[in-house]
Amino acid sequence: MPLLQTTIAGSLPKPSWLAPPNQLWAPWLLEGERLTEGKRDAVRLAVADQESAGIDIVSDGEQTRRHFVTTFIENLDGVDFQHRKTVRIRNRYDADVPMVVGSVARRHPVYVEDAKFLRSVTQRKAKYTLPGPMTMVDTLYDDHYRSRQKLAWVFAEILNEEALAIEAAGIDVIQFDEPAFNVYFEEVRDWGVATLERAVQGLRCKTAVHICYGYGIKANIDWKKTLGQEWRQYEQTFPLLARSAIGQISLECANSHVPIELIALLDGKDVLVGAVDVATDRVESPEEVAATICAALQYVPAECLYPCTNCGMVPLSRSVARAKLHALGAGVALARADLRK
Ligand code: ZN
Repeated sequence: MPLLQTTIAGSLPKPSWLAPPNQLWAPWLLEGERLTEGKRDAVRLAVADQESAGIDIVSDGEQTRRHFVTTFIENLDGVDFQHRKTVRIRNRYDADVPMVVGSVARRHPVYVEDAKFLRSVTQRKAKYTLPGPMTMVDTLYDDHYRSRQKLAWVFAEILNEEALAIEAAGIDVIQFDEPAFNVYFEEVRDWGVATLERAVQGLRCKTAVHICYGYGIKANIDWKKTLGQEWRQYEQTFPLLARSAIGQISLECANSHVPIELIALLDGKDVLVGAVDVATDRVESPEEVAATICAALQYVPAECLYPCTNCGMVPLSRSVARAKLHALGAGVALARADLRK
């Protein structure tokens, strides 16, 4: 197995016959059995695009979910997703989200069949993404528990059941997406990392947490402009994660104002280095991707470094996302050649 095993943060754009492009929470354009079949065809295409770009650890491109957080929540008992509420998420933008109205419980598997399907269509290592407990709490309206911490612990147990079943389906890496870790630092310290550790309890596969500065949507781009010249948010979280039970940390490096030396705080962990920016349609050159990887190699040993995208690519066009996948693969090939010198 070559060094610099390459992967993606998670999502890819969906085909336009499945959902309208360039939007979050895009509605499905198919129904019933045609929707089931359409989602599976979209997964096949997402996997094929990754394989042809040279991605080693592939995901299903999140083709079977409308949104990385709310789709999971809507599959739980105790949630009303017909009467949605508008709340401010990540302290940044308003979204229509599901409402927790009673005790939440997982009565049936959510993504386990999808994970089995992913496993059946690729020989490569496969990664599956789930939302993290804090990001779930931050993407709903809670009319029942009235405590972010309490609800996060309930979600952590539910996520753990789901993750164990996904692992049993043959998935190699389970990643929890926690963009909220870049916003609520006191909560991360007080219960965020602990609930995440509860979610991975008993897993023997690789476990990851993805912490980013968000999709390339306007609210996030505006927010980034307020963060100053140096983005030091990771400085607060990385030491906690370095001591945690989580194996891999996925973060944003390409085109960002994160001082690269902060990744040294993750000593002992695998680091998924975002080497492709998802907030612009401009496609990186392979040399730019290789330069980001080489900068990270000064602080992370090659066997612990996994080149990756900064974040999910669902809001991008398919042609841009495909070109960025190929830039990532080609950039990694350059970086590998450099390592052999
Ligand atoms: Zn992200």
